[in-house]
Amino acid sequence: MRPETLNPLFAEIEGLEGVGPKLKKPLVRLGLTRVRDALYHLPERFVTRRAVPDLDAAQVGEQVVVALIVREHRSGGSARAPYRVMAEDAKGNVCAITFFGRAAFAARKQLPVGARRWIAGRLDQYGQMLQIVHPDHIAEESAEANGQLVEPVYRLAEGLTQPRIASFAEQSLTRATALPEWIEPGVLARQGWPAWREALALAHRGPDDHARDRLAYDELLANALALLLVRQEGRKRRGQSLQGDGSLRGKLQLPFPLTGAQQRSIAEIAGDMAQEAPMLRLLQGDVGAGKTVVALEALLLAVEAGAQGAMLAPTEILARQHYETLRKLAAPTGISIALLTGRDKGRPRESTLMGLLDGSIDIVVGTHAIFQETVAYRNLGLVVIDEQHRFGVSQRLLLAQKGRRTPHLLAMTATPIPRTLVLANHGEMDVSRLDELPPGRQAIDTRVVALDRLGEVIEGVARHLEAGGQAYWVCPMVRESESERADLAAAEARFANLRERFHDAVVLVHGQLPPAAKDAAMERFASGHASLLVATTVIEVGVDVPNATLMVIEQAERFGLAQLHQLRGRVGRGSEKSVCLLLRGDALSETGRQRLALMRETQDGFRLAEEDLALRGGGEVLGTRQSGEEGFRIADLGQTQRLAQMAQDDARLLLERDGGLTGERGEAARILLYLFERDWGVQLLRGG
Ligand code: ADP
Ligand code: MG
Repeated sequence: MRPETLNPLFAEIEGLEGVGPKLKKPLVRLGLTRVRDALYHLPERFVTRRAVPDLDAAQVGEQVVVALIVREHRSGGSARAPYRVMAEDAKGNVCAITFFGRAAFAARKQLPVGARRWIAGRLDQYGQMLQIVHPDHIAEESAEANGQLVEPVYRLAEGLTQPRIASFAEQSLTRATALPEWIEPGVLARQGWPAWREALALAHRGPDDHARDRLAYDELLANALALLLVRQEGRKRRGQSLQGDGSLRGKLQLPFPLTGAQQRSIAEIAGDMAQEAPMLRLLQGDVGAGKTVVALEALLLAVEAGAQGAMLAPTEILARQHYETLRKLAAPTGISIALLTGRDKGRPRESTLMGLLDGSIDIVVGTHAIFQETVAYRNLGLVVIDEQHRFGVSQRLLLAQKGRRTPHLLAMTATPIPRTLVLANHGEMDVSRLDELPPGRQAIDTRVVALDRLGEVIEGVARHLEAGGQAYWVCPMVRESESERADLAAAEARFANLRERFHDAVVLVHGQLPPAAKDAAMERFASGHASLLVATTVIEVGVDVPNATLMVIEQAERFGLAQLHQLRGRVGRGSEKSVCLLLRGDALSETGRQRLALMRETQDGFRLAEEDLALRGGGEVLGTRQSGEEGFRIADLGQTQRLAQMAQDDARLLLERDGGLTGERGEAARILLYLFERDWGVQLLRGG
């Protein structure tokens, strides 16, 4: 149960003054549904504004606040023309307060002729005229009419304004009463960090690294604690030591020798599985590095030892692909492999369920359906999760708690994230890296092409398709941003455009399609019925079409390097030479240029990930997060790098002293876990 002290913070955001049904939508878009969310919606940056006595004292281009007297309203005549409110400062200097579109309606009411108002905004010059366009604030009184003012700038969604969201932040702060401290006093003193309530107030008020760090640390600590709690419980339940005799693995007839990295990873996994403590291992390996065979070896080992194995894929189509691959590879062993997805119904499903229960099925491959309540195993010994970043950490770890004994867990990811980030995102998992590609892989010929050569690119695609090849055409789709709709429209427009040229050979897949339609389009492409797949980033995970050796990525500069790398990994899967064309817009920043150059230069995912971090710096969003990694809301990349290890150590220390979280600091830590919605960790404890 959530501690009562948190009730005011977990109240619906509608409880705040000024949140009506109209604002509900933009707030949800920003992820703000509770008071707590407004509290933690920290400013993206701050502007410094100078209060000036009159316009003579201000510079053009400067952010100012100044008192003006309203003289006249001038509507522009047509609906498109700006609406101007002419006003005067104390010295009689004239300034236009200018509005476009619907904003003019509100202006009329707020700026009656003859009234004196404090106007905050950027002073611009339009011809000979001074003007302030869409002021940030209009007030009758200004509390601070002198000196420097520091104002927060919040991330907005359409329909919200800065003053509105600042007011929600302020109201949420008044509802946040002090909470018991979960950080050791020694740590607070050493870091110079404020108490929780104060840190929030400071973080909304101005740029304050100590406050921001403390809040980021809180989030990292909550996450580390939750992951450790799950682990602690898992250990209590114990796993089973699985030692295979090699009888099944010996029957495999792989058409290639394993790479050194594969052999090493398999040995590491076998070492873990032989222990009674459940394995918790992350297998990192670039696309095409050969993770499937490693998984197969681990699954066979489990079966040799008398247990069952399950392999979980993020989508139906990937589950099917894995099923086919494993069945083919494992054919000489004679074991029984089944497929189970949400689509299976009736008789076939019943028979699969029976087989899992009586043990006649050795390995099941499927989507999360394989972990539903109704699915019981005779003896599940190993769970393999492919492309784990599509699953929440919580989901992943909790499902491992099913059954009498905790199964060993192998998570596989193609995201080459650095060690600190593995720790922060996944907790204390052991890591195996496939840092060596199978021999004979051809480098993907990567070129950066300006968008104005689109015509040539389309002709190139045409030649490729005429020669019997298949191709991907990737359009960007940035989630959660205002541009989401524009992105979707652009993808659809491109599809229509390519369809004119290629007719039925083109299919479109994007995130907003119903799953069945998506699968159908993917299947048309995978089976070769369609030869050009226009897609937003949904193809990123999995999908193996060796005949597709050409990829075009539009607005490549908008993707993270890690993401580009994963996308590019969709081609170059067969023996044919593959080409990747990165189409860039003309407004390319220096960093953007460097990043695309790097893509051309290297195909080493680990290197790209490190460089990505270096180029983007601490303040920006991590590329892997965009691809669905369960990210942090407060801690940015730089903070995660700096503070994750410390949070991990502190969490560990706390649990060593008070594993049930019943002491004073333990109780405070429970509050922290609920505050950051990591309560899946607490719920494993008594009284959680
Ligand atoms: P991923 O790590 O992306 O899941 P896969 O397991 O799908 O990679 O492997 C990619 C391709 O490489 C497959 O066709 C697989 O059969 C092949 N492969 C795997 N290991 C080797 C190897 N040691 N030598 C040659 N080819 C290999
Ligand atoms: Mg794979």
